Amino acid sequence: MTSENSEVTSKTSEPKEASVEQIRQSINGIDEQILELLGKRREASVSIAQTKEKNKSALRDRQREEDLLLYRIEKGKSLGLDSHFVTRIFHEVIDDSVRLQRQYFQTQANATDVGRVVKRVAFQGIEGAYGYLAAQQHFAREGDNVSYLGCSNYQAVLEAVEKGKADFGILPIENTASGGINEVYDLLLHTQLSLVGEETCKVDLCLIGQKGASKESLKTLFCHPDMVMQCSKFLSDIDVSLEYFSDAALASKRLKESKDPAVGAITSKETARLFDLDVLQENVGNQKESYTRFLIVARKPLTINRQVPSKTSLVFSTAQEPGALVRALHIFEDRGINLSKLESRPILENPWEEMFYLDLEGNPEQEHVQDALDELTRVSRFIKILGSYPTERVAPTSVKPENLAQSGADAKSGEKSLAAKESKTNKPPLPKKAKGYKLASREYKNEDTIIRVKGAVLGGDNFTVIAGPCSVESEEQIFECARVAKECGATILRGGCFKPRTSPYSFQGLGWDGLDIMAEAGKMYDLPIVTEVLAPDDVERAAEKADIIQIGARNMQNFTLLSEVGKTRRPIMLKRGMSASIDDLLHASEYILSQGNQQVFFCERGIRTFETATRNTLDLSAVPVLKQMSHLPVIVDPSHAAGTRWLVPPLSFASRAIGAHGIMIEFHPEPEKALSDGPQSLYPEQLKELMRDLMG
Ligand code: PEP
Ligand code: MN
Repeated sequence: MTSENSEVTSKTSEPKEASVEQIRQSINGIDEQILELLGKRREASVSIAQTKEKNKSALRDRQREEDLLLYRIEKGKSLGLDSHFVTRIFHEVIDDSVRLQRQYFQTQANATDVGRVVKRVAFQGIEGAYGYLAAQQHFAREGDNVSYLGCSNYQAVLEAVEKGKADFGILPIENTASGGINEVYDLLLHTQLSLVGEETCKVDLCLIGQKGASKESLKTLFCHPDMVMQCSKFLSDIDVSLEYFSDAALASKRLKESKDPAVGAITSKETARLFDLDVLQENVGNQKESYTRFLIVARKPLTINRQVPSKTSLVFSTAQEPGALVRALHIFEDRGINLSKLESRPILENPWEEMFYLDLEGNPEQEHVQDALDELTRVSRFIKILGSYPTERVAPTSVKPENLAQSGADAKSGEKSLAAKESKTNKPPLPKKAKGYKLASREYKNEDTIIRVKGAVLGGDNFTVIAGPCSVESEEQIFECARVAKECGATILRGGCFKPRTSPYSFQGLGWDGLDIMAEAGKMYDLPIVTEVLAPDDVERAAEKADIIQIGARNMQNFTLLSEVGKTRRPIMLKRGMSASIDDLLHASEYILSQGNQQVFFCERGIRTFETATRNTLDLSAVPVLKQMSHLPVIVDPSHAAGTRWLVPPLSFASRAIGAHGIMIEFHPEPEKALSDGPQSLYPEQLKELMRDLMG
């Protein structure tokens, strides 16, 4: 640091207050140091890649990464940096390092390819098309020097590579909103080119127009047919006629040339910028987040270094006999190979016969993968390996919740799940025959249901903590809750947007605005969110943003509501009604399951008894009983049972000891100011302490 900088930061040697200019200089100096250090870190990454290559050791050591991240989180805390901030920074740093090392490995493995200085990439459309943006993202990240060749259609992209006019071609294969791109699947079957890479791009569809134009003045929209599908909801609300174009960039170009304020287009922000047009409305897609995955083809297959995480894509057809597909898939299961995609396409000219497109994790350089492919060849009528390529996504390093809960504190040797010990010596009798419900019963499904929501897991051997305030009150409150929840190892954020209050005069919640805040906080802190829905008509809209839908105690037997949430694909947390028996609860779950949604978990939150010392009587026996009767996960809500905060920790320990799959805890940055359930809400410090003791 320069002497000037140290003057600014050390208050004792600087009697006068530092000017804005001086502080800015100091910040600039710090930023420069950060950049220099990042550069040095990159150099070290390349050195370590060389050593790993020589020693044939793995590209990533996840345990070491987790240990280091945890250490950095603790170190960060001592410097006043919160754990989420430190985690985000190191995710970026590790991501960059892994990509750099992977590129080094791949360059070594394909050494003969490094001759050409400029790579020529063919894409469909004109500059500014999504294929062009995806190619830029892919090749620029690999640090390549690239020239681009626009082609009129997908077939022409393949031909450009086949005939040597381009080294690579890029083709979209699927979109998370509109699904697989059939034409590309069919073309891949017939090309001799190999897949050598993949790239996923976020699609941020916007309504664009001439500079100064307005949405209201539009009469015609220029669109690509796929984009019309992806923003069908938006389009059904505006009165315009559509004109189709083969790519969004061409639509934008024609729009620019028309100079007509009554014409608009649907395309990305980037494309609007490229053609100097105005964005009239952002986010016009049906899904707020949608992605397109592209595949990259080349004439020669890629050799994948064994140390690099990779995927292999292939297409096959099986004999037309019962069980043929299952037998084919078992080949992968038997060898522990994960399949990341399976898509079927009809075989042209052969009605009702199917080709299966499959992506698996790994590549034929690995013995077990080669073995699986040999076996699949034996049972297939047709098989073609489309290629192997490095997996685009770098899985982020994560710290286990129990380790996060312990960070910064002395670990206490707590008694873990007594239930685990108990079950070995004291097996429960077989459950009674289920009457009136079926899908929820152990008779129907013996193995435990495990529900995965983003990074969180409910069921199995996991103990999951859901934490957050009773009600969503403000953006500030929710972001602070999300930060604290994440920091202490809770993996799901709760917050009520629609509150079922006993009195109609009490605070009823912020409604949809509250849900928007929850969704933003969940995204920022990478936490799935759970919120309660009260009305059947609200279910579909709530399911767009809530990762888990809560059915509250007062609605456990609202059968219309139960059926409605049964039609969504979001996991449902079903709370026990305050006067409901365990049998009633199981029957209620059947209403959801029978509509198709198999991701239900129970929440015991206390029932009404003659006892008045607690808000509700926590029926802990319900946990082992439900586990015996049903395969669905069971958690406990000690907060609503207790009604007062001092009781929450002992009830939480008891819940864990009795074998619950998790707990849901209410806490608030300032419980005394909470608009609902303040007395039972923990202070953030209390939550941290509880988590340390509970997760140890
Ligand atoms: C809640 O969890 O926000 C709630 C209202 O709880 P219950 O339905 O159990 O009363
Ligand atoms: Mn509450």
